[in-house]
Amino acid sequence: MVKHNLWHAAKQQLEKAEKAAKFSPLFIAQLSQPERIIELSLPFFRDSGKVEVVRGYRIQYNNALGPYKGGLRYHQDVSMDEVKALAFFMMIKNAVIGVPFGGGKGGITVNPKTLSEAELERLTRLFTRGLAPNIGPTVDVPAPDVNTTPKTMSWIADEYSKIVNKKALAVVTGKPIDKGGSLGRTEATGLGGVYALLQVLKKMGKNPKQMTVAIQGFGNVGRYLAYFLQKEGFKIVALSDSNGGIFVPGGIENIDQIQKCKEGKGYLAGCYCIGEACDILNKDKLSGHDISNKEILELPVDILVPSALENVITKTNAPKIKAKIILEMANGPTTFKADEILNKRRITVIPDVLANSGGVVVSYFEWYQNMNNEKWTKKEVFAKLKKKMKKAVNEVWDLSQQQKISLRDASYAVSLKRIEEAHNKNQGKKQ
Ligand code: NAD
Repeated sequence: MVKHNLWHAAKQQLEKAEKAAKFSPLFIAQLSQPERIIELSLPFFRDSGKVEVVRGYRIQYNNALGPYKGGLRYHQDVSMDEVKALAFFMMIKNAVIGVPFGGGKGGITVNPKTLSEAELERLTRLFTRGLAPNIGPTVDVPAPDVNTTPKTMSWIADEYSKIVNKKALAVVTGKPIDKGGSLGRTEATGLGGVYALLQVLKKMGKNPKQMTVAIQGFGNVGRYLAYFLQKEGFKIVALSDSNGGIFVPGGIENIDQIQKCKEGKGYLAGCYCIGEACDILNKDKLSGHDISNKEILELPVDILVPSALENVITKTNAPKIKAKIILEMANGPTTFKADEILNKRRITVIPDVLANSGGVVVSYFEWYQNMNNEKWTKKEVFAKLKKKMKKAVNEVWDLSQQQKISLRDASYAVSLKRIEEAHNKNQGKKQ
């Protein structure tokens, strides 16, 4: 159901953008389906000697701006419709943030938690051999996504390099640092979100100091976002993970301490920390409250950050949201209907395709460093990331002001215009 909705949502966004601006009918027809769909049958040996067959996909949505780029996810629910939609959203994201990549996405329909590491490696290398004729540093550059890791990427880079008989690190991004990865990739999505938010606040004439923030999701993205927001003077008052969360109206003291507490217990609920002591018994001293993942979305805060799952802001809870700014760090956290309600309520939504694009920006930096045999420091990476995020926010903000449209609609307009221009230029070259 969710998968079907995601592709439906992608088509709805495209139709909306098409109504708002003049695009050539040929271009819109081209974007209504991916350019290429690769579907592979992957028979592999389990450790027991039994053969199992799973399906693998790679969707190459559009490459007008450069090589197809997007993650590979390993999950039992991966389907053609899901990867098609995700590839479409990657195309939009890459274009709006201004990296020279098209959109792609892929995956394998498998529950990786049921496989040993040796089985995962065999399957990944088989998948790479199947994809090899259609990927490459200047053709299609996959990256990690749900349940795939830097190690998965290093297997792909290694297998691909054997096939083409030369070291081809730039065939994937998100590799381990000692295998060609970029410094700063781990923090990039969260930090990029902070840069995007700061720039929007600057445009709105608001001072970030002491603005209150609630963050749903405390994984790779939520954790770094919380850490860097706190460093900028924001007051983080609520955090949650899949087991529920905490609300400390006076502000959570130290994000690193919460991370340590979560690592120790395995979940974040009850992590009421004073100094280094994190204990449920501190709850009353901090005037804290335990909150559910539903409640965190409706707290009286300045900024709400969905940073975990898709479709959490719906037509049911959109009327109850109290935050005036929503920073979408998760992919697709707001349904189409909810988005309309938020717009009517004049809530500023910094859309996912803009807010969470820091990860793909640093993926681009990794690809660039590999292609040019360079190695940048973390400081350099962060400075370049900041520049890219600021530029993209400025472009989207200015268009949204000129045309009196939402930041999401402006992001799609900037993105599609860029892709259309590249598309027309490429068509011209072919004639
Ligand atoms: P992650 O797996 O590291 O963390 C996910 C977090 O969400 C965990 O804290 C988990 O406990 C929490 N969670 C799970 N179910 C939840 C629920 N029902 N309610 C509240 N929290 C719940 O994942 P991540 O890399 O941090 O990604 C988070 C989101 O950001 C996803 O939507 C992902 O697609 C998106 N995103 C990630 C990146 C990246 O670079 N990692 C880039 C762009 C977008």
